Amino acid sequence: MRYASHIADLVGNTPLVRLNDVAAGTRATVLAKVEYLNPGGSAKDRIAARIIDAAEASGQLRPGGTIVEPTSGNTGVGLALVALQRGYRMIFVVPDKFTGEKTAVLRAYGAEVVEVPTNVPPEHPDSYYSVSDRLAREIPGAFKPNQFANPNGPRAHYETTGPEIWRDTDGLVTHFVAGIGTGGTISGTGRFLKDATAGEAVVVGADPEGSIYSGGPIHGYAVEGVGEDFYPDTFDPSVVDRYERVSDAESFAMTRRLAREEGLLVGGSSGMAVVAALRVARDLPADAVVVVLLPDHGRGYLSRLYDDAWLEARGIHLAAPADAR
Ligand code: PMP
Repeated sequence: MRYASHIADLVGNTPLVRLNDVAAGTRATVLAKVEYLNPGGSAKDRIAARIIDAAEASGQLRPGGTIVEPTSGNTGVGLALVALQRGYRMIFVVPDKFTGEKTAVLRAYGAEVVEVPTNVPPEHPDSYYSVSDRLAREIPGAFKPNQFANPNGPRAHYETTGPEIWRDTDGLVTHFVAGIGTGGTISGTGRFLKDATAGEAVVVGADPEGSIYSGGPIHGYAVEGVGEDFYPDTFDPSVVDRYERVSDAESFAMTRRLAREEGLLVGGSSGMAVVAALRVARDLPADAVVVVLLPDHGRGYLSRLYDDAWLEARGIHLAAPADAR
């Protein structure tokens, strides 16, 4: 009989699938790594197990302990899967702008959710950071994974995502494209592919207009999970060869095309990464192999980027040709 002993053991080994209609006209092969096929629905499942393993090994997390993390979504789900497998209590601190479906998912997995106001500065006692720090300090046996500083995030991608891409392309991958939130995905995967190719693999950072990574003015944007206004410790800028800046409208138009034309119902950061991948692929020869990572599922965004009224209210107008298909 072939079966896993727990759903949390099924993280990783996500497939590559070729992009067809959206990549029409490119000679290079463009392959998407479909991270929503992880059991929690995102690439963040990969870092959760690695972070918890390390905390157990170092004694920071002991049986009966509590995991406290500020997170609005994917990381919380990944941590919840591992926490419930191993019997830890979970408390997630969530800014109130994210409440709704995402917090309902965390509660469905048995997590406690503490809502905090969104519009307060980090040093305010009610902020996302202050509240999670206080809980981690006050609750006996509490452990805070701290995904923006925990080296086990990038390490998980160095040990799993990178080798999977290498294996599944028979070592023929020439370009890797990903968005940057904590930077764990691009730093770990990119570093592995650089090591495997003696530095030949080209690593491309897809970045929302308004984020710090690709330079230019810092301002708000609507794509979730990517871009920052500071440099996290988990990001290694030396891995990135090139950045592509992508607007919300371009990201969301491509995200919707991925659902309609490729059957890939994904989140907005996936559309953003594909826009960047296609810009890169446009100028490449037929033997180039571009791998683009699609971080999460689209189901969490049905009332957001997949909803015309939501886009309208934010003044985001999708480019006509993409939307008219
Ligand atoms: N897309 C989504 C939807 C995410 O939640 C994240 C994680 N913040 C990313 C992309 C970026 O991944 P990373 O943190 O590994 O840079």
